[in-house]
Amino acid sequence: MGNTNHMQGKAILTINAGSSSIKFSLFSVPQLNQFVVGQIDGIGGDAIFKIKWVDQPTEEVIAWPNNECPKSHRESLACLINWLHKALHDVKVIAVGHRVVHGGQKYSAPTLITEEVMDELESLMVLAPLHQPHNLEGIKAAQEYFGGIPQIACFDTAFHRTHSFVDDCYAIPRYFYDKGICRYGFHGLSYEYITERLMHMFPKEARRKMIIAHLGNGASMTALHNGVSIASTMGFSSLDGLPMGTRCGEIDPGVLLYMMEHEKMDAKAISDILYKESGLKGLSGGISNDMRTLENSDLLPAKEAIDYYVKEVKREIGALSALMAGLDVLVFTGGIGENSSMIRARVLKEMSWIGIELDEDSNLAGETIISDDHSRVLCLKMHTDEERVIARHTFGLAKMEMSEE
Ligand code: ADP
Repeated sequence: MGNTNHMQGKAILTINAGSSSIKFSLFSVPQLNQFVVGQIDGIGGDAIFKIKWVDQPTEEVIAWPNNECPKSHRESLACLINWLHKALHDVKVIAVGHRVVHGGQKYSAPTLITEEVMDELESLMVLAPLHQPHNLEGIKAAQEYFGGIPQIACFDTAFHRTHSFVDDCYAIPRYFYDKGICRYGFHGLSYEYITERLMHMFPKEARRKMIIAHLGNGASMTALHNGVSIASTMGFSSLDGLPMGTRCGEIDPGVLLYMMEHEKMDAKAISDILYKESGLKGLSGGISNDMRTLENSDLLPAKEAIDYYVKEVKREIGALSALMAGLDVLVFTGGIGENSSMIRARVLKEMSWIGIELDEDSNLAGETIISDDHSRVLCLKMHTDEERVIARHTFGLAKMEMSEE
């Protein structure tokens, strides 16, 4: 079992159950210091379970009970809960916070999960069929194991519920909007974390016109004014906007009609192409969905995939800046945004027309401020921490819930 019982006392557990992985984290109460992070990756194949105690230098690989690798999310969650039970004798989990991808038009804030809420979240599964079912499985497993403690849903869409009708509608017959066919925007927990950090670090600038580029496996950008989201590149689904690891980003709907009519593809086949075979992976001809691999490749399709990616990021910076009539702060985050000095440099180098002057040395050195002193736009690269946002909201709501009992 390795290191156990580093901690005593109360804790908040966060669970982020994705399409092939379950990430979790534990935070001490009331300080909210993170003391364990872990994840089960590769669910559906040769899943692997790793944990890291924050005060230890290395990760541990956790053996499966009876050496039986779990085959489903449900089994993986059972293994996670089994591990928690064995490893945390003296830690009492007082509330569980769940990342939930879709809160629909209704949920604009973290919410205590009741039976009624759960029913509503299930009805939203059709809007995020690849993610929401796993999120809800995580909730059910935690409810079963932890009994009556508060379970809190933190939504990726909630941060964008401040948009105007015009920023969220599509130009299709209006009754579709009333049926929930509109832009939702995602990655809200990441945007919330970055915005809050900036309000501390650069309080004056953070209230101006800002774009946050969350460039990870999934990718989107959001325009904010006074810390409030006014538009996002992701729309109805998590396919829209920027190209991603395996997702297509912005595409002409005529292409989908063509696939249906002339390629005789059904919804499942098209969905598989758009979600799993497109983006960097599709455009590189299958070389990789991973930016690091593409950066290290000499092959032309890898180079072209990166060229397309950079072009789309630049295009969306231009579009979102035009919507705000200006730009004062640009933040890069997510695995690519935070770690790829090459992508940041290629995006920013030809942006002096908008007032961006890159400081190449700071960018290469991975400093927080990557624009130079003459730049009208403050450019930053930052680490995001969605788990911390979930833990904070969960503790806040759990405290209220417990004081009412
Ligand atoms: P997720 O959306 O799954 O949380 P991440 O935010 O971890 O994903 O981002 C993963 C992406 O970040 C991958 O494309 C990976 O190649 C890229 N990445 C991570 N480190 C680097 C790096 N040093 N240089 C270039 N890309 C990187």
